[in-house]
Amino acid sequence: MQAIWDVLKSVPDPEIPAVSVVDLGIVREVRDGRVIITPTYTGCPAALTIEQSIRSALDEAGYRDVGIDTVLSPPWTTDWISDEGRRKLEDYGIAPPSLAANARCPRCGSTETVEISRFGSTPCKAQWRCTACLEPFDRFKCH
Ligand SMILES: [Zn+2]
Repeated sequence: MQAIWDVLKSVPDPEIPAVSVVDLGIVREVRDGRVIITPTYTGCPAALTIEQSIRSALDEAGYRDVGIDTVLSPPWTTDWISDEGRRKLEDYGIAPPSLAANARCPRCGSTETVEISRFGSTPCKAQWRCTACLEPFDRFKCH
């Protein structure tokens, strides 16, 4: 089981390669030779490629007989992103999801930030700008 988790930890999110599908909480469970996943935002084109990425990683590691089940309920939420995942997002320059009104700038840590656009580089992220260091950045939307 642990070996399968290790394979899964090496599968990057198609949209944010800095974090793995495990960091994002997409992998719910590994049990009875099956991997249970809940894709992020079903409206995201990337959701379609997540299962394919996991499939090919498992195949390459010799786990051809391990199946993948997609479970849509309960729906994935940003709460499932691990602490390590949040740290990696920030290192990558993306503000992790939070309930705070203002995003924390991933570059300088300031909360003197403003939302520029509800839609950033992808529909899952909003575009923000830091008024302290003036850098624009993406903020993961809360779901
Ligand atoms: Zn800043």
